[in-house]
Amino acid sequence: MSVTRTEVDVAIIGGGQAALAVAYFLRRTGRSFVIIDAEDAPGGAWRHGWNSLRLFSPSTWSSIAGWMMPPVTNGYPGRDDVLDYLRKYEQRYQFPTERPYWVNAVERRGNHLQVRAGDRTWQARAVVSATGTWRNPFLPHYPGSETFTGQQLHSAHYVEPAPFAGKKVLVVGAGNSGAQILAEVSTVADATWVTPQPPQFLADDVDGRVLFERATERWKAQLAGITIEQPVGGLGDIVMVPSVVEARERGVLHAVRPFLRFTETGVEWADGSQTPVDAVIWCTGFRPALAHLETLGVCTGEGRVAVDGTHSIEEPRLWLVGYGDWTGAASATLIGVTRTARSTVEEIEQFLKQH
Ligand code: FAD
Repeated sequence: MSVTRTEVDVAIIGGGQAALAVAYFLRRTGRSFVIIDAEDAPGGAWRHGWNSLRLFSPSTWSSIAGWMMPPVTNGYPGRDDVLDYLRKYEQRYQFPTERPYWVNAVERRGNHLQVRAGDRTWQARAVVSATGTWRNPFLPHYPGSETFTGQQLHSAHYVEPAPFAGKKVLVVGAGNSGAQILAEVSTVADATWVTPQPPQFLADDVDGRVLFERATERWKAQLAGITIEQPVGGLGDIVMVPSVVEARERGVLHAVRPFLRFTETGVEWADGSQTPVDAVIWCTGFRPALAHLETLGVCTGEGRVAVDGTHSIEEPRLWLVGYGDWTGAASATLIGVTRTARSTVEEIEQFLKQH
């Protein structure tokens, strides 16, 4: 198999919103770069969101640097509005993008990092990992799950409620996915919401704008080295989007604490009672998709990389963007990722001038 080798200043691994934000600032530096993405088309994780998935912020609060997301007429932008925006964003800036390529390793080669994807390799002077989390769904283990004969599905692969019509369904998870999927599935199925603690709902008037402002306040306080008091509630708490408000009015937003174990045909609760269950939808979140960095030996036991801001502490040619608060407040959001994309490119430019 002949290997095609390309030299670039910067290789960006991943082609979602975080990668596009980094590319926007990189393009202004004149450095050579490439986006290497596993998807067949633009949009990153948004290509796999469920049909009714909506942003929890208006379009003006959901734009990446350089070009505002066009306003939508019916409430907050839906999955297809975001996909359309990211597709047009890529077309608008014509970033050098190679897809579909799955990067399976990043290795040290002299003063380069070698990025490998099948029969392709890129020799890069700096690498930005922007691979998100969607490709690494988290499923908690419950005793008996291997012998449970019902269906199990992670929210990453949920599309719509129809397949669950008339069934007994458990929706497990206390975040926005859990609330939005419970709201929808409960219209067609006998749905029970299972959460480790009582779900935290934000006030009806708190949406992504407010959460981003709070994240910005925390970021400024962090820079100033001070701590600030903030109202309870952050990006992980439930935004009262219309479908969740409607579910509250229908009286279905009640969650129970987790079951003890699976039986073959259902679950057993703490009081020893058993319930038949046809399907479990795991809305239990994700972990960073970092398997491609294991060859560098920089991944920690918690499945992250030790960073100073977005800069790997152990590998000076590596940056990580878009993975959530550990790589910058609100960095896993469209509006939040711009801040860390900009600072990352400034650091890379400094680094390339010196190396
Ligand atoms: P992704 O979009 O996941 O893109 C990563 C890309 O990297 C993908 O194309 C993937 O295929 C690719 N990739 C992964 N591994 C490799 C590899 N080894 N080699 C090559 N390519 C690879 N955000 C908001 O801003 N506003 C919201 O209202 C909002 N609501 C949300 C609601 C829910 C229910 C969920 C689950 C998320 C929500 N988000 C929201 C968050 C947002 O969807 C994600 O955080 C966002 O997609 C992250 O962007 P990213 O570019 O970091 O990663």
